[in-house]
Amino acid sequence: MCGMEIYNTLTKKKESFQPNESVKINMFVCGPTVYDYIHIGNARTFVFFDVVAKYLKHKYGDNNVNYIQNITDIDNKIIERADKEGVNPLELAKKYTETFKEDMESLGVSSPEYKNATDHIPQVINQVQTLLNKGNAYIIENDGIYFDLSTFPDYGKLSNRTALMADDAVSRIDDSDKKRNRGDFAIWKFKQHNDPSWSAPFGEGRPGWHIEDTAITEKYFGPQYDLHGGGQDLMFPHHEAEIAQQESASGLKPFVRYWMHGGFLINKPVSSTDRESKMSKSTGNFETAHELLKKYPKEVLRFYLLSSHYRAPLSFNETSLNQAEAGIQRINEFKQNLESTLNNENGMGSMANISITEAEFFRKIEDDFNIPEALGQFFNLIRTINPSLKSGLNKNDAKLILEFVQKINKILGIIPNEQENIPTDISRLSDQRELYRAEKNWEKSDEIRLQIESLGYKIEDTVYGPLLKKKK
Ligand code: AMP
Repeated sequence: MCGMEIYNTLTKKKESFQPNESVKINMFVCGPTVYDYIHIGNARTFVFFDVVAKYLKHKYGDNNVNYIQNITDIDNKIIERADKEGVNPLELAKKYTETFKEDMESLGVSSPEYKNATDHIPQVINQVQTLLNKGNAYIIENDGIYFDLSTFPDYGKLSNRTALMADDAVSRIDDSDKKRNRGDFAIWKFKQHNDPSWSAPFGEGRPGWHIEDTAITEKYFGPQYDLHGGGQDLMFPHHEAEIAQQESASGLKPFVRYWMHGGFLINKPVSSTDRESKMSKSTGNFETAHELLKKYPKEVLRFYLLSSHYRAPLSFNETSLNQAEAGIQRINEFKQNLESTLNNENGMGSMANISITEAEFFRKIEDDFNIPEALGQFFNLIRTINPSLKSGLNKNDAKLILEFVQKINKILGIIPNEQENIPTDISRLSDQRELYRAEKNWEKSDEIRLQIESLGYKIEDTVYGPLLKKKK
């Protein structure tokens, strides 16, 4: 492999990632529809693309990456929820836009610039008008303006579907018996009841879901750009619709050069009759990021969300969160031990070749963002260096390793500034227990477990080693 490769959903293969000639990378990711708190599944997508943007900035320079995320603050789901709660839809959207931004900040997601759909109505109107003028869209009286799929033969190129297969994407708002083709989707809905609406030359109304994104990206990036991301559920029909709209409006192809889609965070079955399912707001089976952030530090949540390859499913369960907690504990101990070695004039040289480890770490990141394997390299380094940290590492090597740790942290955001410190006598006991476990001396290791428990701590074994926690 030479240079960075990304799995491109459009070509269905890993491709070398080449910035465009200007070296400015324009990147867009679909943001939340704000009618509730976001769940940890949404957060998986947002944290992953935060890492993508931070890595691209690390590689190409901070000023060479523009990362925009939209906020869907007008939509059917918002109107329905507001009706139920007896509040104004735009007020409801405003409230959950704020909670979303707070959650993102608490999760250390700092790379995107957010753009609300309702701040881009003139751009939406402009695009709808262009599609009408070019004959790609048509009006259904007292209903809305629809995209005519028969005018866009490329429909389905991202998800390998056809326009006919678009039937299953038809939502209630796109369901009119006056449509030319079953899969035609609304790009503008005429005003109904007291729904929020904006005046337009073709009739007062509001944007369809798909057009807000292309209106926003056309304003900031132009009709073509580099990278578009989102969860797998958005590939069809949402991203197909975006391609149809923008390529029809501008006549330029491809609309986006690289498409990246993240796997789902899934709920494990709770009973034998239950099925594994995507965590989802609309079904109600979700854990909000807001609540989880009260129980776990952001680094633990980020580590957990990044612990499986982004295109693979990730299960939501306590064991995985505990593993993430143990992983963070190991990293934190490592960092603290390195810091305490920084004045050590006479220590030994390290047993690891740091520049090789660093190169391997970034090679994994450049291989379609294989973060789990990159972290594997980092944990190998921790295992190799730990013995020298105990016997005394020299300050130059400690400094070099700490610089590498900081580089990792700038991209992944998984290293805590402060964490509850485990008292030295407890961690010594835990180290002793690890030695007994390595010798398979279970009797002695159990004795130490009981001793640790009698001192007010509990110990749990995970793939990242023992997790020590204060008993509540
Ligand atoms: P929504 O608010 O439903 O439009 O979702 C916002 C973002 O979260 C989109 O990029 C979705 O693809 C993503 N998303 C939704 N549910 C999940 C899930 N269970 N796992 C991972 N990403 C998800």
